[in-house]
Amino acid sequence: MKFIPISKPSITQKEIDYVTDAVKSGWVSSFGKYLEEFEDVFAHFCNTGYALTVMNGTCALHLALAVYDIKEGDEVIVPDLTFIATANAVRYAGANVVIVDIERDTLCIDPDKIERAITKNTKAIIPVHLYGHPANMVEIMSIAKKHNIVVIEDAAEAHGAEVNGIKVGSIGDCGVFSFYGNKIITTGEGGMITTNDKDFYEKAIYLRDHAMSKSKRYWHTQIGYNYRMTNLQAALGVVQLERINEFLAKRKLVFELYKKYMSSSLNIRLNQTSQWAKNVYWMICIEIEGYNEIQRDALIIKLKEKGIDSRPYFYPVSDMPMYAKANTTDTPVTPVTHEIYCKGINLPTYFDITEDEIKYICQILMEILGNV
Ligand SMILES: *Cc1c(COP(=O)(O)O)cnc(C)c1O
Repeated sequence: MKFIPISKPSITQKEIDYVTDAVKSGWVSSFGKYLEEFEDVFAHFCNTGYALTVMNGTCALHLALAVYDIKEGDEVIVPDLTFIATANAVRYAGANVVIVDIERDTLCIDPDKIERAITKNTKAIIPVHLYGHPANMVEIMSIAKKHNIVVIEDAAEAHGAEVNGIKVGSIGDCGVFSFYGNKIITTGEGGMITTNDKDFYEKAIYLRDHAMSKSKRYWHTQIGYNYRMTNLQAALGVVQLERINEFLAKRKLVFELYKKYMSSSLNIRLNQTSQWAKNVYWMICIEIEGYNEIQRDALIIKLKEKGIDSRPYFYPVSDMPMYAKANTTDTPVTPVTHEIYCKGINLPTYFDITEDEIKYICQILMEILGNV
């Protein structure tokens, strides 16, 4: 039986040629023409003044927090439904994680619930553009401006997504991206920070390379990091970014096909898209009305028996032992996150998936759910 993975990168001869060229050039480490080119084209793609490569998306988050000098005693607001890296980066910086609930439709942080989480210690908000749908940046930016808080967009899952026609990564004070193997474009492991702020950019370059003095080699005035990307990864990234519009068009088609073949079922909810948003469908999301965690896990196993890979939604960050203090009562402080996470799974979403495979996945799903 053929196995349909949840995700798979698309690697063509051109990626192989560029990486081979990078290897042969001898520039295999953190200098080289592909790094410069990747940063240039990525900034252009996001319509930002600057873009800075880093080792991965988690480093990108941590570096951004470090540039803003966010530290112990500070608070950073994150959504409850996200990949754990968003919260962990805040802890790496030594600051406290303040968890806010999500919106039902976008699955992103709920702007209406942000303001009551703000205290005199709040330094930043990290909205996450979850599963390819942008967060409500218009409202988030206006709240941030009012309270003089920086906004770091976690766009790790949303390369090319837009809010009212404006690319994510260019709306907040800075944006962070991931190029992990299952993301919209990949460099194996990799990340990027985008910004229009020259001072931020220069400080990020400095901290990325051990905070070494520009004028005095091996002189350091603060503790920096080695968060540099390699030229090999950048070579892969350059080609992937050239192909991004092709990738995004296919992801939209994949969504349309799932919608087409799933239309007979009433109790499955597919990705929703706000009218102001361009969704890039990092992952097809389905939520099954009335499901709990046990039923959901059983569904994932049944799909796997039929050769179909799937994955559960992220668990609420506030349920993790390290962050659990937010939910000590029976009523979760994040009711929407807690209502939704256990109903949701992601289905195979990638460039090379075929219409027949999507049709098969939907048929099996209907059989399992008894809607044949
Ligand atoms: C993938 C991801 C990250 C982390 O990126 P890595 O490159 O894996 O470190 C951060 N935030 C979100 C929302 C992600 O999906």
